[in-house]
Amino acid sequence: MWVNVPLTWKNKPIIENLNIPKISSFAVHSVRMVDEGLTLPLNAGEVYLALINVTLPDGTVNEYAAGVTCSEVITDAIGRKNGCVAALVNGTEKDMSFSIEESCSIEGIKAESDAGMYILKHSTAHLLAQAVVELYPDAKPTIGPPVDRGFYYDFAMEPITESDLKPIQKKMQELARRNLAIERIELDDKELQEHFQDNPYKIEIINDKIGEGIGSTIYKQGDWYDLCLGPHVPNTAKLMFCKLTSVSSAYWRGDQEREQLVRIYGIVEPTKEALKETVRRMEEAKKRDHRKLGRDLQLFHIDEEVGQGLILWTPRGATIRQELQNFIGSHLQRQGYSQVFTPHIGKLDLYRTSGHFPYYQDSQYPPLVEKDLMKKLSDEGCSCSELSNLMKSGEIDGYMLKPMNCPHHVKIYSSQARSYRDLPIRLAEFGTVYRWEQSGEISGMTRVRGFTQDDAHLFVTEEQIAQEVLGCIELVQIIFGILGMSDYRIRVGLRDPDSTKYVGDPNRWDKAEDACRNAAKSLGVEWSEEEGEAAFYGPKIDFVVKDVIGREWQLGTVQVDYNLPERFELTYKGSDGQLHRPVMIHRAPFGSMERFCGVLIEHFAGRFPTWLSPTQCHILTISQKHTQYAQTVANALKEQGVRVEIDDGDDTIGKKIRTHRKLHPAYMVILGDGEAESNTVSLRARSGEQIADLPLEDFINNLCEEISQKTAQPSLV
Ligand SMILES: [Zn+2]
Ligand SMILES: [Zn+2]
Repeated sequence: MWVNVPLTWKNKPIIENLNIPKISSFAVHSVRMVDEGLTLPLNAGEVYLALINVTLPDGTVNEYAAGVTCSEVITDAIGRKNGCVAALVNGTEKDMSFSIEESCSIEGIKAESDAGMYILKHSTAHLLAQAVVELYPDAKPTIGPPVDRGFYYDFAMEPITESDLKPIQKKMQELARRNLAIERIELDDKELQEHFQDNPYKIEIINDKIGEGIGSTIYKQGDWYDLCLGPHVPNTAKLMFCKLTSVSSAYWRGDQEREQLVRIYGIVEPTKEALKETVRRMEEAKKRDHRKLGRDLQLFHIDEEVGQGLILWTPRGATIRQELQNFIGSHLQRQGYSQVFTPHIGKLDLYRTSGHFPYYQDSQYPPLVEKDLMKKLSDEGCSCSELSNLMKSGEIDGYMLKPMNCPHHVKIYSSQARSYRDLPIRLAEFGTVYRWEQSGEISGMTRVRGFTQDDAHLFVTEEQIAQEVLGCIELVQIIFGILGMSDYRIRVGLRDPDSTKYVGDPNRWDKAEDACRNAAKSLGVEWSEEEGEAAFYGPKIDFVVKDVIGREWQLGTVQVDYNLPERFELTYKGSDGQLHRPVMIHRAPFGSMERFCGVLIEHFAGRFPTWLSPTQCHILTISQKHTQYAQTVANALKEQGVRVEIDDGDDTIGKKIRTHRKLHPAYMVILGDGEAESNTVSLRARSGEQIADLPLEDFINNLCEEISQKTAQPSLV
């Protein structure tokens, strides 16, 4: 609709003269003088307004003049202090300065929302690049994406150190204070090349990623601009609360053959308080880092000579793992699981049937070839690449380190004829699997190349899915409860209704999705459905745990699978005498022992509950003459299965306490004359609190009770 507006529109009272419902002052500010490109006769003293309808999130529809910006609509709707960094226009992210030409729906993107934080981080990466180039004019910015905890930017420049970050950060804050407008500019191919002619990295991106004749956009703040599709925050003032956190190196495009770059990491928050809190959490996380604690507490070791990403569980760490395995084992027995053991390798043909080879070979160690065959091939002068092709095509067979336990368990299932009376069959194994992670991605216990899953596969009838899924998540819930991980949520991964990639009958999918949904619902914790997050072979349930400092970890998974039973043609005889296909459920409540222990080390900050503590009592003697009593106490404790360490050395008791405290034992038991004479002990807790003269027998009884109850923290003192 076109509306006639008298030319005196800059005069405020004009709004009242407009015969338009709900038109706001913002619309009037954004009136375009449509005197060019239009054939409408423009009488002197008149402008024309095109009116559009803008639908707000609450359903309100406002009328504005076309050309109104997102910022104007949002300011009009929620006020000037709206806390938004960008907007969703018909579901697409746009800059605040985006001018709306047609009727649409609009919603502000708050800075603190996930989408808002992404934009904030990304915009701060631009600010970082601007600051670096001002300080180091020869530096060439390459890419700068947001990441989980903040953002980074990679620069081709001379290496810098942590101490160089401070001036860069100061420069960023100075640029933020200048409140530079961030402007989107569209450029054609030629202009793009001209703008980035001094930066070969950007030119490479332009040539590789931007098709001919398409052009792209840059974002400009002050004199600085960067190749980018946006959106961005409207001005640099929104980026005030940022902090640079570290510097490292990276290869251009992750390719070790290419240039080495300087990578600078940073964080940003919408407010000063939020930044302070994030910094506090990062410092806490540093203290809890399982890589550091794992070394200090002697829990695990990684040795370059053994191989990257391969965990050596040292005695103290192995104790924790064994306790966890025993704990889960007892529940498996109660829930009717059968324990199995399978080898670490399997034939390529097995993984061809399962679909793991050759499709996922990039994430696996290369296959192994039988000795005799290898010799024969090498005598024939067969090269590595020929060998690899022969394996891929199936002309020669080989073995693979198993990337999954499932195919082995499938073969145990199919080793016998099965009847509906046998189902469900639940096979459990702490099975070690191997995946090829890029060396840059390997980290401590949480990203490794070999790991042991607390794996199990359930072979069930269609009707049993709901009940069995429930059983699986009950187990996860018990584990989380015992470990004090009370803050967790559940994600139910469902099909994408628009996709056809899923195997299996849609009706069966509906039922399995319902089973997962109902199981999730029944737990009474926060849960969400996520369309498109199912695997192509079945819906799944993921558990996401929040630790004490607010970080989220994805742990256990329960996965329904229609595909593997099909690929391996599994059957059972039904009550009708016919053969039917079972359904498989994969489930691993911890995920992997390595990852889970890594998370637990950080969750407990190395201060494990008594039942999990590698050593539960450290017995410290005050002097040499108490050695014998220390032995008596130690033996009595060991008799009850308590893990004990004695220090009857020459150090003073103060020195002994300081030394042993570093290992965070559940208790230190201090023995001197008084204790030896009265057959008692003195206990010292991690907090430093002490109780004296506890009768030995009472102590042992209480301690055993605490261990068997799996009490969350030592509580005898
Ligand atoms: Zn950008
Ligand atoms: Zn599996």
